[in-house]
Amino acid sequence: MAKVIDSKIPAGPVPEKWKEYKAHQRLVNPKNKLKLDVIVVGTGLAGASAAASLGEMGFNVYNFCIQDSPRRAHSIAAQGGINAAKCYQNDGDSVYRLFYDTVKGGDYRAREANVYRLAEVSNNIIDQCVAQGVPFAREYGGMLANRSFGGAQVSRTFYAKGQTGQQLLLGAYSSLSCQVQAKKVKLYTRYEMEDVVIVDGRARGIIAKNLVTGKLERFSANAVVIATGGYGNTYFLSTNAMGCNCSAAVQCYRKGAYFANPSYVQIHPTCIPVHGDKQSKLTLMSESLRNDGRIWVPKKIEDAKALQAGTKQGWEIPEEERDYYLERRYPAFGNLVPRDVASRAAKERCDKGFGVNNTGLAVFLDFSESINRLGLDVIMQRYGNLFEMYEEITDVFPGDVANEINGVKYYKPMMIYPAIHYTMGGIWVDYELQTSIPGLFAIGECNFSDHGANRLGASALMQGLADGYFVLPYTIQNYLADQSIWGKISTDRKEFDEAEKKVDAEMDRLLNIKGKRSVDSIHKELGHIMWEYVGMGRTAEGLKTGLKKMHDLEKEFDTNLFVPGTKEGLNVELDKAIHLRDFFTMGQLVAFDALSRNESCGGHFREEYQTEEGEAKRDDENYFYVGCWEYKGKGNEPELIKEPLEYEAIKVQTRNYKN
Ligand SMILES: Cc1cc2nc3c(=O)[nH]c(=O)nc-3n(C[C@H](O)[C@H](O)[C@H](O)COP(=O)(O)OP(=O)(O)OC[C@H]3O[C@@H](n4cnc5c(N)ncnc54)[C@H](O)[C@@H]3O)c2cc1C
Repeated sequence: MAKVIDSKIPAGPVPEKWKEYKAHQRLVNPKNKLKLDVIVVGTGLAGASAAASLGEMGFNVYNFCIQDSPRRAHSIAAQGGINAAKCYQNDGDSVYRLFYDTVKGGDYRAREANVYRLAEVSNNIIDQCVAQGVPFAREYGGMLANRSFGGAQVSRTFYAKGQTGQQLLLGAYSSLSCQVQAKKVKLYTRYEMEDVVIVDGRARGIIAKNLVTGKLERFSANAVVIATGGYGNTYFLSTNAMGCNCSAAVQCYRKGAYFANPSYVQIHPTCIPVHGDKQSKLTLMSESLRNDGRIWVPKKIEDAKALQAGTKQGWEIPEEERDYYLERRYPAFGNLVPRDVASRAAKERCDKGFGVNNTGLAVFLDFSESINRLGLDVIMQRYGNLFEMYEEITDVFPGDVANEINGVKYYKPMMIYPAIHYTMGGIWVDYELQTSIPGLFAIGECNFSDHGANRLGASALMQGLADGYFVLPYTIQNYLADQSIWGKISTDRKEFDEAEKKVDAEMDRLLNIKGKRSVDSIHKELGHIMWEYVGMGRTAEGLKTGLKKMHDLEKEFDTNLFVPGTKEGLNVELDKAIHLRDFFTMGQLVAFDALSRNESCGGHFREEYQTEEGEAKRDDENYFYVGCWEYKGKGNEPELIKEPLEYEAIKVQTRNYKN
């Protein structure tokens, strides 16, 4: 019988409750704030916004990141936009509608109260960012412009060309820099957290490695906030930045923080297909392209075969011979169905032999209709940098006319295929974003967050900034309110000694294996196992095989790894080896969770549980809960703890994107 926990959610998703949290803020004597230290690990959108806000509120903030500048955090990769319920398009949007779409998009596996709060603060985020000078796209008349993203029938996505994440991060960075200047935030760039230190059951600090000198250093604080991003790179090939890793989250998990819903992994439908075995990175083509691009494969299998053989090109296939399968299957949402639905539909077509490139693992994303209707100039204004990026990688420019049939111009289509992109699972947090370890908070992509089993496009930036600017700065004070009595926590305590020694010994262990295989070769093999057995389509048998293979490969890692160099100074291979050690823990956790959840929901698709039409089949009677995992030591099965979901405002039903 699994343990059951409760999220301390207040009675209902009502604004009064939110005010109650603001009132708590006053409980903290401003003078005390000046004595309180907070460590924030991460300078992506979640971490930078939190550090800036906490600094502005008077706390002493120590902010860490592995890059040489916060401006290089993975968040800058975000292309398409950020959602908010402003209803500038006068298309019937509202806080409730954003809340509803997000819960539905997550296949009814998110915590309802959290999502309501997220929708409520979404509008504040846009105001905050505009005030910082973020150059959102505007209409001719000056109003902020919007576009549509999957899973919504309104236009609520704010954007800055295809560089929204970068512009938002520059805004957050400018606020952060003000606090650095005001000496309320101290930045530690090129520092990597190697462990969290627990004193008397509370998070009291971290052990961090100076990545340039290789030296381990100790930092103490009254609370620790983790904002270290997702675990997509467990799969080796993903759209995430190469440096993304889940080590900080796994360190917290090993120290007792629950890890929630790890099997909820997002596979994004519009990525440039894999083109060989030498690749280490996949590139996303933003979901925003689905506003104007139409996804198709040929209707006739002979055409697909000719495309695969290279004897025919997409633009030679006329309109009536094309199968716009998303528009056919989901007339109400068409190309803008949520990502999990679009990815599965692409896989279904390719599995049936209709793939359009030499590997048979690609579909077309075509702009012919929109360029003919709006002109290339308009399309370039909307997606110019994405078209250029696609050309740079594939040498095909999607705005080039390639053919004319019956007076209709056909442009060169993009080729796309699903790839690992985002992780909905993460460190379990309660309503106040506190983990199961008192004093340890998790925000942004690294917590299990508000997206249930599938995140809607443009909602990650919304959640990261909601956490950082508007939720954590208030809720953390409920914890900190009585912490000033502790004063500074000495880093000479035995807990810091022990943690540092353990990290040091672990680095020695990895360096002394002196085997024959590089970190990347083992990571690539782990990625193959993950994609094959824990990827888009999962089965109980496959998951068990995957777990066994991961176990064997971990043994290979422990006995045959080769890490060159020493622990003194810069050693990128050693850092990667530490990340890979943690990807093994993570990969197995994803598989355990997937195996325990005998249903399909959102990004977690168990092939045994599908409808006749191939849609995900949920089992609300048995799996209407957040699955949290407690670490039980290396090689042991983690323990499942359930947090039952409670819905008051939304009726739980089967998702429908057809009508
Ligand atoms: C290609 C791409 C496009 C995307 N487009 C969109 C979009 O249009 N809209 C949207 O809403 N979402 C989008 N997303 C998702 C979104 O970008 C991310 O979910 C979000 O930026 C994550 O922000 P974060 O602050 O939680 O983490 P990150 O931005 O990943 O930042 C993590 C931070 O933690 C630090 N860190 C990590 N480990 C350690 C450690 N051990 N010690 C010290 N520091 C550490 C890193 O240095 C970094 O500063 C996109 C994602 C990708 C990959």
